[in-house]
Amino acid sequence: MVHNFNAGPSILPYEVLQQASEALLNFNNTGLSILEIGHRTPVFEGVLNEAVSLVKELMQLDSEHEVLFLHGGASTQFMQVPMNLLEEGKTAAYIDNGIWGSKAIKEARLFGNVEVVASSKDKNHTYIQKEFTVPADALYLHYTTNNTVEGTQWHSIPETNVPLIADMSSDILSRQLDFNRFSLIYAGAQKNVGIAGVNLLVVNKNALGKVSRKLPTIMDYRSHIDNGSMLNTPPVFAIYVSMLTLRWIKKMGGVTGIEKLNNEKAELFYSTLDSLPLFKGLVAKEDRSKMNAVFIMENPDLEKQFLDVCKRENLYGIKGHRSVGGFRASFYNALPVSSVQVLVQVMKDFGTQFG
Ligand SMILES: *Cc1c(COP(=O)(O)O)cnc(C)c1O
Repeated sequence: MVHNFNAGPSILPYEVLQQASEALLNFNNTGLSILEIGHRTPVFEGVLNEAVSLVKELMQLDSEHEVLFLHGGASTQFMQVPMNLLEEGKTAAYIDNGIWGSKAIKEARLFGNVEVVASSKDKNHTYIQKEFTVPADALYLHYTTNNTVEGTQWHSIPETNVPLIADMSSDILSRQLDFNRFSLIYAGAQKNVGIAGVNLLVVNKNALGKVSRKLPTIMDYRSHIDNGSMLNTPPVFAIYVSMLTLRWIKKMGGVTGIEKLNNEKAELFYSTLDSLPLFKGLVAKEDRSKMNAVFIMENPDLEKQFLDVCKRENLYGIKGHRSVGGFRASFYNALPVSSVQVLVQVMKDFGTQFG
């Protein structure tokens, strides 16, 4: 039994892997692999339609919000968002809470003015700066809901009067939010809703078509909406795995059901962390991420030994991000509570041995 705490790509529900592997050989009793069917076939259109309607249902989206599955990973959205929504000579507000937000800011500067209205850089992104002012004429406010590398998370939606845009790559569908408050949400699927190779987007169609620049067709959200995510060949298999994962989320009681389990995992982990003097959390308690826990050891000499123990106990993906060091354990939707129970037991035993 292995326990997969990888940060991304990351754990998938076992039944999703099973169904996906069956479809690799014989998809829906067609005798063909999901990898060798046309995307404009009724069977695949069924998959895409089901994925879109599951997102609408799970996120309780209103009719203004469209769902897209696009190529390119979340990093493409760092560019595609400002290309579609930011105007030369106008300003977009960005919050800089970590590595991913900083990358989004860099790309947005290619398309207009960027005002960084809040930053947690002064303390190595170990907290969330929640007080800030957005210029009234800002075209939108962009933020990262969960900072995958640094281990912080926004626990409520920032208050603002301008259109809100979020990179939800590492916590999409992990908790209940009023998703209709966003003009645009994007997420690489490989953390909470599938595998690498596809982005899930939720776009308010009324936010589009306002910039004066000419948009390449493939970059224009409107052409993807008009073509139902089939402007060109979509990442067929990645969308299929997302559809299976969405079905699984629904089966688990939807977003509310998943959120309950995610809360349980986070509480179990952080209460253990706080009870063991050997370990130390790196971020402000009130801003701790329920998806990615970042922690270190008071005595760094023991870190290698702890990683060896994790390896022996089949705990995968505990090593911290290269830019932060220490440890990171990711508790994405598909990670069972039982894996966190094993991790905290290993930490307690280690604490007893060396504490
Ligand atoms: C992983 C991640 C990204 C990058 O996703 P790619 O699909 O590799 O481009 C962007 N933002 C956040 C918050 C992430 O966790």
